[in-house]
Amino acid sequence: MRISVDRDGCIGSGQCALTAPELFGQDDMGIVHVLPSGADGTDDPLVHEAQRACPVQAITVAED
Ligand code: SF4
Repeated sequence: MRISVDRDGCIGSGQCALTAPELFGQDDMGIVHVLPSGADGTDDPLVHEAQRACPVQAITVAED
């Protein structure tokens, strides 16, 4: 699965990083970024949990 994030849409709630801390991090402003472990794709099922947890649908997951 390929992860992409909408940094402009992210409101920094942190739900993704709480749900899947191996995949998502936040900068000093709380804005999301995909961590190296998820940057080249992932098979971690938590990515779906994080996607569902995001209150503004800023996370997109594309199936390989
Ligand atoms: S859950 Fe959504 S709004 Fe919250 S930090 Fe993650 S991407 Fe941003």
